Amino acid sequence: MLFDIITLFPKMFPEYIHQSIVKRAQEKGLVNIRIHNLRDFTLDKHRKVDDVPYGGGPGMVLMAEPLHRAVTYLSKEDLPVKRILLSPQGRLFSQKIAEELSKETHLLLVCGHYEGLDQRIRDSVIDDEISIGDYILTGGELPALAVLDSVTRLIPGVLGSEESLHCESFLDSLLDYPQYTRPEIFNTMQVPKVLVSGHHEKIRKWRRKQSLIRTSQKRPDLFQKIKMTDEDIELLKDSS
Ligand code: SAM
Repeated sequence: MLFDIITLFPKMFPEYIHQSIVKRAQEKGLVNIRIHNLRDFTLDKHRKVDDVPYGGGPGMVLMAEPLHRAVTYLSKEDLPVKRILLSPQGRLFSQKIAEELSKETHLLLVCGHYEGLDQRIRDSVIDDEISIGDYILTGGELPALAVLDSVTRLIPGVLGSEESLHCESFLDSLLDYPQYTRPEIFNTMQVPKVLVSGHHEKIRKWRRKQSLIRTSQKRPDLFQKIKMTDEDIELLKDSS
């Protein structure tokens, strides 16, 4: 998968993308990440990218010209491209959207800044708008990293074991079960006995039950969407 990110702040990215799973994904050749400075797509000597809004009002707006040049230039790769604007007005990002995007071959992420960007960019060279939540950030850089990270994890071969993908929150609309590691007793708090029993079937059922309980308590909205199996109903009835 090729990621192209257009930003006014390219220095915000290297620290994050050269660590952990995203770094490994690049080393394995499964993702290629290119960060582009929007100012490199200006033609004037001041490398101007913003101007005051027509009609007045506070702040500055990213100009259409450099953005248009950047997006069209980077769309010329052989791979089919999906051009995404990070924006608080976009569809709300979710695991489902991350899965959908992980099937693409080339994602071009455009980070806005200031008061946003000239509407004509949205109207002409953007395929999709994504928001990471109902709050306003200073720029699209953090949202772009959130999309990049969550999509990268879903690309086959990126995570060490397929198992770790299958045990995460939001798969089947369920939150993950509680995790514990050594020591067995910490500040008088004991790891649930079943987890040290070595009984795999009992562990599986305990984890499933905990996921169901957690989801119903923490995210009733998700819980309503779960297609419960007969076993789930039995597990929830069982008070042990
Ligand atoms: N005035 C704009 C509006 O209300 O749509 C918000 C501008 S915001 C200060 C600057 C940039 O940060 C946006 O263009 C967008 O790229 C990014 N941004 C801010 N909040 C975001 C969010 N919740 N999700 C995705 N991108 C966001």
